[in-house]
Amino acid sequence: MAEYTDPRECDGDGVADDMPELSDGDDEDFDNDEEQWMEEEDEEESQPVTVTCLFCDRLLSSVPATLQHCTAEHQVNLVDLIRKHNLDDYGYIKMINYIRSTKCVVSCLTGLPDAPLPWEGEEFLRPVVQDDALLQTDPEELCEGSSLSMCPSSGAESHDALQQRTQAAEERARSSEEALARAMDDLHKLKLLAQGLVLNAETSRPGNTGAVAELREDEDEAYFSSYGHYSIHEEMLKDKVRTESYRDFMYRNPEVFIDKVVLDVGCGTGILSMFAARAGAKKVIAVDQSQIIYQAMDIVRSNQLEDKITLIKGRIEDIKLPVEKVDIIISEWMGYFLLFESMLDSVLYARDLYLADGGSVYPDLCNISLAAVGDTQKHQDHIAFWDDVYGFNMACMKKAVVPEAMVEAVKPETLISEPTVIQTIDCNRVCLSELEFASDFCLKITTTTDCTAIVGYFDIFFDKGCSNKVMFSTGPQVTKTHWKQTVFLLERPFSVQAGEELRGKIIVRKNKKDPRSLLVTFVFGDRKLTYSLQ
Ligand code: SAH
Repeated sequence: MAEYTDPRECDGDGVADDMPELSDGDDEDFDNDEEQWMEEEDEEESQPVTVTCLFCDRLLSSVPATLQHCTAEHQVNLVDLIRKHNLDDYGYIKMINYIRSTKCVVSCLTGLPDAPLPWEGEEFLRPVVQDDALLQTDPEELCEGSSLSMCPSSGAESHDALQQRTQAAEERARSSEEALARAMDDLHKLKLLAQGLVLNAETSRPGNTGAVAELREDEDEAYFSSYGHYSIHEEMLKDKVRTESYRDFMYRNPEVFIDKVVLDVGCGTGILSMFAARAGAKKVIAVDQSQIIYQAMDIVRSNQLEDKITLIKGRIEDIKLPVEKVDIIISEWMGYFLLFESMLDSVLYARDLYLADGGSVYPDLCNISLAAVGDTQKHQDHIAFWDDVYGFNMACMKKAVVPEAMVEAVKPETLISEPTVIQTIDCNRVCLSELEFASDFCLKITTTTDCTAIVGYFDIFFDKGCSNKVMFSTGPQVTKTHWKQTVFLLERPFSVQAGEELRGKIIVRKNKKDPRSLLVTFVFGDRKLTYSLQ
């Protein structure tokens, strides 16, 4: 308990109370003092301590060893006694001296009342044993020391544990960093793959090739990244049937747009937004999740339309529009066989959330049609081809080829039936669940031949409230669009007679494993054929 007071101890302002003014000589004194102190401390540390046990003659090497001995051999825990009687320095000293002087038996110490304590007399302040190390110990430190050594999560053990935890955390951080780097790498590859697809694929709207299956891992990311490349937009813009139909609808029906607030869902390069602005819209909000929107921002500025068109990057489902309601929603959401890509889902989401009462979605009407095809040459190219490939039988490949619907331009002369509409969608009314449907159909056969395939396509109408209605078709008998047609090859063609009615049923549903792709099933009598469109 002999406390050492550091002569440099400072008061609150950081100046040592008794510190002489600094001078060379004083510095020396100071340094000497310090050295002396260090020596004293070293000496103190190196001097072996011997402590006589309180209850027997045993000599112990340290205070903690004495405490341990008392607990183990005599069942007296001094720390417990200090705590139990709430002993301060004096109380502790008196207790030690009391035990030593009275040579009391252990039972005297247990079960003592809180007060009066038998060592309260001043005589117990006098040391019984000379240089008693127990008397030089701070009872508070004893208690703290004991709780530290008793608690596994503190003291030396806790330091180790802490170090282990730090190492584990570092390890986790390292492996997370590696995982992140791998993910970034994958993402980069995915992006390149998507861009490659867009550049190389003959028909490049997303989803036309089998390789797209590889993109499913993060389908939305890949979907939007495919729209980030200029080439897909170039193809769409160059599709005059498509783009001019939107333009004509807007320019020829200014009364629909004048002073209206328009939302363009999936604006791409901003072409539809700019048509709408030129047609007289008061304000256009253009939304796209793909990187192409950054180009759209430049394009809008280059055409001095930045005051009218507000561009927002994000999924329409994720962002918040700067207005509560819009008067008109325009969007070019159509995919192969109309519903592939499922982008109409996003338009319906926007309609239900943002369209003002009396507002309209354009295009508003869409038809999906089917017709029978008799094209033996095409069938052979795609199916019979596998029977003999450089002299080898690869017929098993047909099982993979047939169930994948093809996106191809069908020659009009190969049509062998009148077309029939299997579904009409009114974008202002339809609900999400109706985008999966089943429909009975009847194809009036016009030519006696083998039916080798069924072709599907769609027509688009800008109709509601328009004085100049506009429509376009993606069918085989009119100018080809970038959607071409969707061909469902029959593995085994069947013969049909002119005048015959070919009856069947079509079931269109989303592919649960990839909701942006479709599963289309045809039922002809007892033949059931399912195709995927991916
Ligand atoms: N309107 C443009 C682009 C049409 S392509 C034009 O006519 O040329 C469809 C665009 O919609 C793509 O750029 C795609 O990134 C975007 N898109 C699709 N779903 C979306 C969604 N949920 N939220 C925001 N943008 C979307």
